[in-house]
Amino acid sequence: NEEYIRKPDWLKIKINTNESYTGLKKLMRNKSLNTVCEEARCPNIHECWSERKTATFMILGDTCTRGCRFCAVKTGLPTELDWGEPARVAESVKIMGLKHVVVTAVARDDLKDGGAAVFAETVRKIREANPGCTIEILPSDMKGDYESLSTLMSSAPDIFNHNIETVRRLTRRVRARAMYDRSLTLLQRVKEISPNTPTKSSIMVGLGETKEEIIETMDDLLAHDVDIMTIGQYLQPTKKHLKVERYYHPDEFEELKQIALSKGFSHCEAGPLVRSSYHADEQVNAASAQ
Ligand code: SF4
Ligand code: SF4
Repeated sequence: NEEYIRKPDWLKIKINTNESYTGLKKLMRNKSLNTVCEEARCPNIHECWSERKTATFMILGDTCTRGCRFCAVKTGLPTELDWGEPARVAESVKIMGLKHVVVTAVARDDLKDGGAAVFAETVRKIREANPGCTIEILPSDMKGDYESLSTLMSSAPDIFNHNIETVRRLTRRVRARAMYDRSLTLLQRVKEISPNTPTKSSIMVGLGETKEEIIETMDDLLAHDVDIMTIGQYLQPTKKHLKVERYYHPDEFEELKQIALSKGFSHCEAGPLVRSSYHADEQVNAASAQ
């Protein structure tokens, strides 16, 4: 008899789908590819796929070795590594005519390199087939392994994104086998390997954090040279996942965004429907204009 708080009106949106969207869904099935846009039933899918020409691919299979309590991706023993996946992603990016692509992956703790070699190959293949498309990568923490990170960075992504997801105090409850400080170190190391690559991180709010804790997370990210931050509302994917403790009002998101910008982030997106990859195309431009 758990109690659920009512969803406010600004989150009740109708997903706008059309023919081109249905065609793209078919393309994903034919190529055995997964997108976060579909898996997470992201409310921005029409805007991203059809208008902004951006999408988020989830590679290295559809099964994650971790089970974070906010995430709807299935947990289990993953399938074999698929070396054909990089070329299929690259071809789909071309068919979709994407201008910006985000590549993320399930956490492959079963592999020594966490899947870094296939990940880097995916970035290379996308670039070869789509010279005008900017590429953002959103890997797991790769267990903090420096070599895996170097392999990934050898593909020279346009943006490196790694989500800290929540404030320090809630990390253990929210994320599986991830550590707040390990994520910060990973982001810092990217700057050591490649000082000019913009780095980015996101948090979800509504999990019971305080405003002071959010601000502390901003400070921690800035202390590790992170350039871009995004802040979105946590939404419970199923009843088995963590409950939403609070829905933030759009004005509160605006306030958080202003705080983030005044503290020194070069770009911040904050809003009820903001996802890690939302308006990512604008962030590349903002970062490269610095
Ligand atoms: Fe996909 Fe991200 Fe856009 Fe959602 S915000 S549709 S996950 S690219
Ligand atoms: Fe989901 Fe990523 Fe956590 Fe895996 S590591 S359960 S894909 S958030």
